[in-house]
Amino acid sequence: MDTSIAPLIERLSRILQNDTHAHGLKPAQWEALRYLARANRFSRSPSALTAYLGLTKGTVSQTLQALDRKGLIRKTVADGDRRSVKLDLMKSGEKLLADDPMADLGSSIADMPKAVREELGTSLERLLKGMLDARGGRPFGACHTCRHLCQDHGEGAPHYCGLLKQSLSTDDIGRICMEQETARSS
Ligand code: SF4
Repeated sequence: MDTSIAPLIERLSRILQNDTHAHGLKPAQWEALRYLARANRFSRSPSALTAYLGLTKGTVSQTLQALDRKGLIRKTVADGDRRSVKLDLMKSGEKLLADDPMADLGSSIADMPKAVREELGTSLERLLKGMLDARGGRPFGACHTCRHLCQDHGEGAPHYCGLLKQSLSTDDIGRICMEQETARSS
């Protein structure tokens, strides 16, 4: 077992946890805001957020109630079906994210040479995938790596999801999705 990398990740994680109590929000509330800013329209639901965060339904429900009370998100019951709740960031939530305490980490990563950044990204993705696979977690990748993405389906939109039978815009395909399944390379 490697004993040098795991403690580095643990310390980074601790620093991030300590930093993310900014603006009176708890770490899970920040994570939910970040998720909603990145997720596609099919994945902005309490169940998708629960799967992404790996928290209990109760914790996610409390997190969403707190964000709703603060006016940072909006919950809409889709098609009158109470089981089908759609979540959206409000303008105030987007504004708060501009002051995200994680921005420091983003800047430190942006300062790295491109090759180092890409290698780090690939290694972390691989590590995360291994941890998720062992726990039955979902990857939440974007459309461009998904086996269900179809091009030129002839219905006007630039892309199409073969699984969800929905047209996809260029903005859609850059967002993360609960249903994403990585295409196998031939
Ligand atoms: S193509 Fe894949 S990632 Fe994109 S919306 Fe469909 S299932 Fe989700």
